[in-house]
Amino acid sequence: MKRIGILTSGGDTPGMNAAIRSVFKEGLARGYAVMGIYHGYKGLIEGSVRQLDHGDVENIMHKGGTILRTARSAEFMQAGGMQKALDVIRAYNMDGLVVVGGDGSFRGVKALSDAGIRAVGIPGTIDNDMGYTDFTIGFDTAINNVMAEIYKIRDTMLSHDRVGIIEVMGRACGDIALWAGVAAAADIIIVPEIPLPWEKVAEQLTVNKIKGKKTSIVMISEGAGKASDLVKYLCDNTDIESKSVVLGYIQRGGNPTAHDRIIAVRMGARAVELIDEGKTGRAVGIKENRVIDVDIAEAVSTPDRIDASLYAVNATLAKF
Ligand code: ATP
Repeated sequence: MKRIGILTSGGDTPGMNAAIRSVFKEGLARGYAVMGIYHGYKGLIEGSVRQLDHGDVENIMHKGGTILRTARSAEFMQAGGMQKALDVIRAYNMDGLVVVGGDGSFRGVKALSDAGIRAVGIPGTIDNDMGYTDFTIGFDTAINNVMAEIYKIRDTMLSHDRVGIIEVMGRACGDIALWAGVAAAADIIIVPEIPLPWEKVAEQLTVNKIKGKKTSIVMISEGAGKASDLVKYLCDNTDIESKSVVLGYIQRGGNPTAHDRIIAVRMGARAVELIDEGKTGRAVGIKENRVIDVDIAEAVSTPDRIDASLYAVNATLAKF
C-alpha cells in the first residue's frame, strides 16, 4: 500500500487536527495508508512514527492543539539530522510527506524536497505571517480568542476610567492586533508594519479624554513594543492612567472556529492530491477563498503585508 506521512511542527494552532483528519481521509480515498509522525521534525528524526487509524482521527475536529504533538528541532537543520530524517522516511516507505506549520517548518519542507522527498506544506500558525496565503490555520481562532478577552478587559477599564493596553502575539506581523482590534472596536492599534510614535498615541488618548471618553483600548502587537513600556510612557508623560495586559498563550488554545476548520479541511485534501499527482516542494494556501498551491521557495520568500486599508478604516473610525 502507498504511504503518506504527516507531521505538525512549530507552534500548535487550533485547526491542525482538522488538517490531520482531512489528510487521513483524503489519503484513504486515494489508496494511501497515513503515517502519523509525532513531535514534528524531532519525532521524524527519532522514528516516532505510527500508522493512523480511524480511532485516531475520530472526534478531533473541534479540539485545539494537535493530536500529533509538535516540537522544534535544531538537529533537523543540521546535515546529520536531515540524513536521519531521510533514513526514517525511506525506512517507512513513505511516498510523500505533509507538514503543517509556519515558515520555519516550510524551510524544512524545502530542504526535504531538495533531497528528493515529495513534501508539501500546509500553513499552520496563529500569526498569519505568510504572505503567499490570505489565511493560515489558527489565525481566525486566535483573533476570536483575543476579541473575547478585549471585552472582558474593557469592562474593568470602563469601571475604573482607565485605558487598557493589550499586548498580543504575532512577532513581526501585526495581523492579530489589527483584526482582533477592529472586531472589538479598539481605539488605537499599534503594529510593527506601520510605525506609530508613542507621542501620537498619547496625543490621541488625551483628545479622547477631553472629548469625554473615559476609557480607551489600545492594541499593541508584540513586534511593535511592550504594553508595560507604553503604560510607563503614559504615566511619565500624561495624566492618563493605564494598565497593561499581556494575553499570552490563551490566544492560541481552544476550539477552532468554523473558518479554521474549513480551510484546514480544504488544504489538507489538496496537499494529498498534490502528492498523489507526483508534485513536490509545494505550499498549499487560500487566496480569495480558493485553494491554491505555490512553490515552497515562493511561499517562504513572499513578503507578508498588513492590510493597510483595514488599518486606515479603523484609524478613521477611532477618531470620531
Ligand atoms: P511558528 O510560526 O508557529 O513558530 P514555525 O514553523 O515557523 O512555526 P520554527 O520554530 O521556525 O516554527 O520552525 C519549526 C521547525 O522547522 C524548526 O524547529 C526546525 O526543525 C525546522 N526548520 C526551521 N528552519 C529551517 C531551515 N532553514 N531548514 C530546515 N529546517 C528548518
